[in-house]
Amino acid sequence: MMEYALSIKHLGKTYRNGVTALDDVSLDIEKGDFFALLGPNGAGKSTLIGIVTSLVRKSAGMVRVMGYDIDTHFSQAKSKIGVVPQDFNFNKFEPIIEILKNQAGYFGMGRHAALHAAEESLNNLSLWEKRKLTPRQLSGGMNRRLLIARALVHDPELLILDEPTAGVDIEIRRSVWNLMREINSHGRTIILTTHYLEEAESLCRNIGIIDRGKIIVNTSMRKLLEKLKEESFILYLQNPVTRLLDLEDYSYKFLDDKTLEVALSYDKTLHGLFNLLDRHGVTVSSIRNKANRLEELFLTMTHRNSE
Ligand code: ADP
Repeated sequence: MMEYALSIKHLGKTYRNGVTALDDVSLDIEKGDFFALLGPNGAGKSTLIGIVTSLVRKSAGMVRVMGYDIDTHFSQAKSKIGVVPQDFNFNKFEPIIEILKNQAGYFGMGRHAALHAAEESLNNLSLWEKRKLTPRQLSGGMNRRLLIARALVHDPELLILDEPTAGVDIEIRRSVWNLMREINSHGRTIILTTHYLEEAESLCRNIGIIDRGKIIVNTSMRKLLEKLKEESFILYLQNPVTRLLDLEDYSYKFLDDKTLEVALSYDKTLHGLFNLLDRHGVTVSSIRNKANRLEELFLTMTHRNSE
């Protein structure tokens, strides 16, 4: 059996107020993957991450982290995960070396091992020279790095980042991106929740889109982008058509008997399409381009959600 970094089966969560945040979610994320979990507000991302990191209790289903079931092998599963939260939730007056040592201690390391781990993690994130400073003495960018250093102190195989660049300036965002790339290049699995499509696009290999508690897309970033490279057109026809048309390898569907939606990949032309329609005696009276980028997809979902 393939061992995944994260394997989720039939996961469900209904909060006490009756809100179903996750509905039969199944998802497998391979070891070494760089995975984006994308979705509009309220989609269920935090709930999913919360369950995986044992902050939220699930209502149904199974979760395995690096092969460890979170129900039966709780501490093993937990030790495999590092979490970078959205907000700074450390003591702002504690020297950062202490913050890291405490975190290592929390994962069961003895004093000596904890100190060693803290030193290594600070070194890896270029924070060694700042070790005696407190978070309030660090810049915003350094505090971001500190969050990551803390998440990595117990050397987890899976790193989960919850909107790591929300509200940070472009320079910090770039440096966080580079850090994530480097961390992933050493074989660590990364799962990222994000609202930034360019972030998912430029960093992630695979993507899951969650909407209203359900996974609606789960594919490789490349495939998703390829699909979006198709351009869709809406064709308004002069006369109603009630029979099927043989449009060779153009994929199409009727929206009604006078409206046709056609997906055009880049090796096809509108000219060719019109010729084919002509042969069927179908006249197009007007045409509209249906924008179809990832951004568009996301906006549509967000829009639908805020209705
Ligand atoms: P996302 O992270 O994608 O914004 P969430 O997982 O935070 O989505 O929320 C999913 C749904 O669950 C929303 O409808 C939200 O209002 C609801 N929800 C989240 N946390 C709680 C909670 N503690 N109690 C009740 N409902 C909650």
